Amino acid sequence: MSVRDRYGNDVTDEDSVLLACDAALADGDVVTDPDRLASYVRDRSLGSDAGQPFAVVFPRTTEQVSAVLQAAHKYRVPVVPRGAGSGLTGGSNAIDGSLILCVEKMREVLCVDEANGYVETQPGIFNTELRDHVAKYGLWYAPDPASKDFCSIGGNVNTNAGGLCCVKYGVTREAVLGLEVVMADGRIARLGRRTVKGVAGYDLTGMVVGSEGTLAVVTMARLRLRPLPPPATTAVAVFDDLYAAGKAVEAVMGALTPSMLEVLDQSTLKAVEAFKPMGLDTNAGALLLAQVDVPGDAGVADADRLLALCEVAGATETYRSEDPEQAEMLLGARRMAIHALEAMGDWLLDDIAVPRSELATVMAKISDLAGQYDVYIGTFGHAGDGNLHPTIVFPRGDADAEQRALAAFDAMLDLALEAGGTITGEHGVGLLKQKYLARELDPVASALHPRIKEAWDPMNILNPGKSTPLW
Ligand SMILES: Cc1cc2nc3c(=O)[nH]c(=O)nc-3n(C[C@H](O)[C@H](O)[C@H](O)COP(=O)(O)OP(=O)(O)OC[C@H]3O[C@@H](n4cnc5c(N)ncnc54)[C@H](O)[C@@H]3O)c2cc1C
Repeated sequence: MSVRDRYGNDVTDEDSVLLACDAALADGDVVTDPDRLASYVRDRSLGSDAGQPFAVVFPRTTEQVSAVLQAAHKYRVPVVPRGAGSGLTGGSNAIDGSLILCVEKMREVLCVDEANGYVETQPGIFNTELRDHVAKYGLWYAPDPASKDFCSIGGNVNTNAGGLCCVKYGVTREAVLGLEVVMADGRIARLGRRTVKGVAGYDLTGMVVGSEGTLAVVTMARLRLRPLPPPATTAVAVFDDLYAAGKAVEAVMGALTPSMLEVLDQSTLKAVEAFKPMGLDTNAGALLLAQVDVPGDAGVADADRLLALCEVAGATETYRSEDPEQAEMLLGARRMAIHALEAMGDWLLDDIAVPRSELATVMAKISDLAGQYDVYIGTFGHAGDGNLHPTIVFPRGDADAEQRALAAFDAMLDLALEAGGTITGEHGVGLLKQKYLARELDPVASALHPRIKEAWDPMNILNPGKSTPLW
């Protein structure tokens, strides 16, 4: 709809929303300059489409978020909520004619309740900043995505992010006690609880977790804290082949609870070593990197038990690393995996998760796909959770190779589903996985999705066209 102002100029819906935003937000917090907009148009995924937004706004308070959404709702303008843009599925990519609502200026920690073991924070704070803040109280926020230094808590909540220590302490969902959200029409809702237990009403908090900005904008998260864990013992097992490493993961997880259990296959080890030489064994078929955070002798005993299980499964070399510097170097290698593979060319990163009993078979089949489709695949990930990030790399700008990579990506998702797994363990559906979602969901559950969306966002203005199945 377009109207004219008193001078006879067209006033578009977008202009009206901008006027309302200008009135509600501080100077400089409404940006329309195309050069500045460009940095907010897409996330870190490759292969996902991005449209052209007309503005990005940076609210600082819940009331400002509410004012923005009231205006957008009134004029039916699409809004794309955005945290730090580190997503890997296009979830925060702009849509044509959208308003980007970026929470990067909402970074305040509102309270740390030591007695009840939680923190309340605005959503824009980075995961590491929050962890550092609560550490001053001797407390710990567990979920630790490999991107923790540059991803926001709001993004973590909306993707239900996992991380390295989630194998023991659970993913973001397990840490979210309550949320303050702004609904699509600007109403403010407080969801969840402060108590350890609570079952009153439907679990609306849980529904927002992992909803990828399609149901509401998160303006405050109340997150469960734990006492800081003791220093961990690091254990490393080297394998000739990936299948044996997968079998070792199954055995370890059946016997004890490590606080980290990650895998890097040979292609990933080679990529990391080429990216940053650190003496990794690039002849190994796979490397398992584990930690046990049980204090004292019991921790050392657990680490030894873990390594013994790896040896039974076929590890050719095992060792405990008591040296914190060496442990940090190995963790660094794991965190570097995406960057190292990215540096090799164009890439498509997957995020499948499979039952642990299927891990060995699925990893071996993924290696076979590399040969079948003539692409480079580096597989690494949170093996203890059965969550893998096979990353397909192909020469930049090679259209033929891109087609082969897409076909391999497709085949990989089928592998995961056939193994009883999921197309996304932690990154979400966004745009990248949308066309695959209906393959995984039960048809009745699939049909519930649009009805839930309609209940939260009847005008379909919040991140429209993302995350939900394509019918
Ligand atoms: C090198 C690298 C390593 C990574 N490692 C991991 C890992 O180990 N585990 C893991 O889970 N992920 C990982 N990721 C992916 C990414 O960091 C996570 O998905 C993260 O949770 C995204 O947070 P963000 O703040 O960047 O969100 P964005 O990318 O900005 O947004 C992600 C989604 O959340 C929505 N959103 C963001 N903020 C809000 C809000 N306040 N209210 C409503 N909706 C919102 C957006 O609309 C979008 O759908 C990695 C990414 C990279 C680049």
